[in-house]
Amino acid sequence: MSLGLFLPSPTLKVKRNEMATVVAPSPVPAEKKKLHRRAAPDRSQKIRHWVQGAFVVLNGWLGLQFYLWVRFYEHGGTGLYVSRPAGAEGWLPIAGLMNLKYFAMTGHVPQVHPAAMFLFASFLLMSVLLKKAFCSWLCPVGTFSEFLAAVGRRIFGRNMRPWRWADNLLRSLKYILLGLFAAAVAFMSAEALQGFMQTPYGLLADVKMLNFFRDLSLTAVAVLGLLVLLSMLVQNFWCRYLCPYGALMGLVSIFSPVKIRRDAEACIDCGKCAKVCPAALKVDQLVQIRSVECSACLQCVAACPAEDALQFALPARPAATPAQRWYRRSLSPVAVTCVIAYLFFGMVLFARATGHWKTDLPRDVYMQLVPRANQLTHPGM
Ligand code: SF4
Ligand code: SF4
Repeated sequence: MSLGLFLPSPTLKVKRNEMATVVAPSPVPAEKKKLHRRAAPDRSQKIRHWVQGAFVVLNGWLGLQFYLWVRFYEHGGTGLYVSRPAGAEGWLPIAGLMNLKYFAMTGHVPQVHPAAMFLFASFLLMSVLLKKAFCSWLCPVGTFSEFLAAVGRRIFGRNMRPWRWADNLLRSLKYILLGLFAAAVAFMSAEALQGFMQTPYGLLADVKMLNFFRDLSLTAVAVLGLLVLLSMLVQNFWCRYLCPYGALMGLVSIFSPVKIRRDAEACIDCGKCAKVCPAALKVDQLVQIRSVECSACLQCVAACPAEDALQFALPARPAATPAQRWYRRSLSPVAVTCVIAYLFFGMVLFARATGHWKTDLPRDVYMQLVPRANQLTHPGM
């Protein structure tokens, strides 16, 4: 027997001591809410793109400097010498995780790749405060993914959205990858962590990464080409399905007090926010976005036409009107930029001021190791 027979139907109105009467659906549609158009134009995307651009330039500069530094040692210490840019260690998240665990266990800042730890900690803090803002405001891979998705829309007319079941299945991949890395680090003692970092492989983890991209194998080219194609077809393919770093930032972002919050009274239910959300979140139906997929890109806020309807904000004040509820509660894009800059540069300055920014190894060590970096294998292999 159908369960529906036992459930009250919206088309039946039953009054006490009266027979059930079938009432036709009301011909009068729900009253359309009045739009109070936003007073100021949205600048969030312009500001975010500037921040993304600045970070791409910064990474390009660090990459070039690091390449020149490696070349100096590869050429036997001749040619232009530039000092090793410690900031390049931002590309070593596993080293950052290992060093952070070492620091938590011993209270000592590791001597090898300390910048990786400080940058990793600053990105984690960013996620605790501002959801996954790291992914959509700073990460160059995220920026490149966004660019590829835009190229895809130009070529194919739109980006595709996989079926929900496929999307859920694929999204689990990044957590599996994160779990594998986290488990490997979780079982290492402080001595093992320090020992690993001080092996030639650990010392040159950054050089090995650079060399991977300099000498791409055919397989690597094919995989990267496939990822580029998939990123044009499906928005944020890498970030959404495969990036373990983004997965970790998403898990940490659960604690963020600042979230995308919708004011049901001010909202006119136009659905524009949900339409533009790259994470396919139901922004138009929820009062706050708790999802680990929200990257605080503010594209939903930018698309919203109604004043005070959607904001990246702390919980609302108890007040009668939307304007009062969100007064000094929502974070402007400039404020988001300031918090990001404060956490990023604050951490770098702190590490520099306390003398823990650079890996301090004698030149002789690099002179011996850098030219044979490609022969160094993982100590666990
Ligand atoms: S909910 Fe808004 S801020 Fe979060 S990912 Fe979607 S569009 Fe970006
Ligand atoms: S964009 Fe979203 S939050 Fe803004 S009015 Fe439309 S449905 Fe409401």
